[in-house]
Amino acid sequence: MSSQPERQTIRKCHLNFILDSPVPSSQPQPRSQPNSDIPSASTPHVVQYEYIGRQISNGRNVLQRVEMLTADIRVSSFDTHLIVCAGCNKQMSTRGHTSLYYDNCDNWNFHQRTCGKLQDWYNPSSPYRLTPEMAAKFERSRMESRERALAYLVLQDKIKRV
Ligand SMILES: [Zn+2]
Repeated sequence: MSSQPERQTIRKCHLNFILDSPVPSSQPQPRSQPNSDIPSASTPHVVQYEYIGRQISNGRNVLQRVEMLTADIRVSSFDTHLIVCAGCNKQMSTRGHTSLYYDNCDNWNFHQRTCGKLQDWYNPSSPYRLTPEMAAKFERSRMESRERALAYLVLQDKIKRV
C-alpha cells in the first residue's frame, strides 16, 4: 500500500536532478567593455630610416639606392661597391663610382641585358625558370645585404632610425 507515494518521490527527485543540471546558455554574458587601453597586437613594429646626409639636388640618395637594390629581383646580394647577379652569381664591382650602393653602372646594366641565366628565367621553354623558391631565397639574401647596409649607413651618419 505504501509503495505508490515512494515511487512518486523517486520520480520527482529524478526530475529535479534533470532540471538542476547546468544549462550552458544560462550563464550571464559579461557586458562588453571598452578596450582602448589594450595595445593592438596586430601592429608589427617596423623600423624605419630617414636620410640625413648631404642634400641631393637630383637623383636618388643612398637610402633610396639601397631600397632599390633590395627590391631588384635580379640581385642576389650587394655591398657598398658590389652587386652579385642572382642569375649566374657573377660579382660585379661598382668601384668606378664614388657613390655607395650604386646600381646604375655600365657593367651591371650591360650584364642585366646579356646574362643568359637571367634570360632563362623568363623563357617558358627553359628548365631554369625563376621559381618562387628561388625568388624567396634571393630576397632573404638581399634583406641580409640591406641590414648590413643600413647598419653601415647609420654609423656613417647618412641615415637615422625614425
Ligand atoms: Zn648573371
